[in-house]
Amino acid sequence: MKLVMPPAVRLIIQELETNGYEGYAVGGCVRDACLGREPNDWDITTSASPEKVKEIFGHTVDTGIAHGTVTVLIDGEGFEVTTYRIDGKYEDARHPTEVTFTANLLEDLKRRDFTINAMAYNDSTGLVDAFGGQEDLRNKVIRCVGEPEHRFGEDALRMMRAVRFAAQLGFSIEERTRRAAVKLAGNLVKISAERIREELVKLLMSDHPDILLDAWDLSLTRVFLPEFDAMMERGSGETAVKALRVSGKDRIVRLTLLLRDINNGSASCAEAVAQLLRRLKFDRDTMKKTAVLSELSFEPVPDCKAGIRKLASRLGDEQFDRWVCVKEALLQAGYVPGREEAGSDDPARLSAVRELYAQIRKDGDCLSLSELALTGTDLTADGMKPGKQVGEVLHRLLEEVLQDPARNTRAYLLQRSRELRMQQP
Ligand code: ATP
Ligand code: MG
Repeated sequence: MKLVMPPAVRLIIQELETNGYEGYAVGGCVRDACLGREPNDWDITTSASPEKVKEIFGHTVDTGIAHGTVTVLIDGEGFEVTTYRIDGKYEDARHPTEVTFTANLLEDLKRRDFTINAMAYNDSTGLVDAFGGQEDLRNKVIRCVGEPEHRFGEDALRMMRAVRFAAQLGFSIEERTRRAAVKLAGNLVKISAERIREELVKLLMSDHPDILLDAWDLSLTRVFLPEFDAMMERGSGETAVKALRVSGKDRIVRLTLLLRDINNGSASCAEAVAQLLRRLKFDRDTMKKTAVLSELSFEPVPDCKAGIRKLASRLGDEQFDRWVCVKEALLQAGYVPGREEAGSDDPARLSAVRELYAQIRKDGDCLSLSELALTGTDLTADGMKPGKQVGEVLHRLLEEVLQDPARNTRAYLLQRSRELRMQQP
């Protein structure tokens, strides 16, 4: 079997061989190349020690020297070259306490998580597949290398990786691997929120986000997303998953579809969503956008341009298209909108709203305080005392402009601001 590798990878392997060492492309890139998918990155494994790798290649960076990884730079592009290694005992189901370098490729492949991730390749030897990775690729199966209970016991993150790969590749999880995950799901508590978040996002953004149901079935969500288990009990989990399946691959849209219904007793939907995303260590921007979109996903579909402008201004930048996507996905998933969500069950009205919003953008209508033709400084220059009232007046002015964008002129707004101030106590 011949796989096509990028020239730089071939060069690195050749150079290692010329110096008397072995070198192979390994892991995800071999898996993806076998599947005819474009690999994210090409990792190389070698019998040479990290010091030798540094000697052989002029330009290197010590990326993870303790674990045997050196980044080799070829024409400015980095390739991770890692010395064959055996992972020592895992004390906390997270990190091996020590790693030992070895000259034996098979030992290195044995430490890897799944058979499909444990294959190596170079042009001189061809494919090295000691654990049936090819067959599992053919049968579309995720299977642990070795004894699943032992492997999940060593590193609990592998259970998340199993469902993530199943979702990315459209594979199923092999029965013994499954049973081991069910048994050891509780160990996930030992894994950091950041690492769980990364796997969850990859799962959600994959071609098969409905594999989330596998994570639930394996009792994994019970540990990192118990809110989803509660949704499954209430009957809203399945709808969320169906909506995920039909939605476009936007991170905020997919997080919203997953979380809008968590309803954990917090004051508001936005607060509940923000709290959960904070727990999973999401960045502030994602947290804010998802929280707002979740909350406003329960709003009715507007029936006029003024209504659209109002909603768009509450949603903030770039979010209106997402809002329509959320509504459309829910509709396709058979979600039954509440009475207060008027118009949300009408696909024609949703596409009309999309068109009207495009016009609003094209016309450059003002949708936010920053686009208002009058600023807080203008108001204080006009004699208003700086303070809370300035903001209040600006908000009132924005509301009027959202009703009718022709009002967004300095002269009109200044005059209106004076009238509003007169009315204020
Ligand atoms: P991706 O396409 O997402 O990068 P990948 O298979 O390359 O997928 P990485 O996380 O980049 O995944 O890891 C590279 C390789 O290292 C894997 O293919 C696997 O062989 C091994 N590996 C990674 N994480 C683990 C782990 N937790 N336990 C065992 N082996 C692992
Ligand atoms: Mg990778």
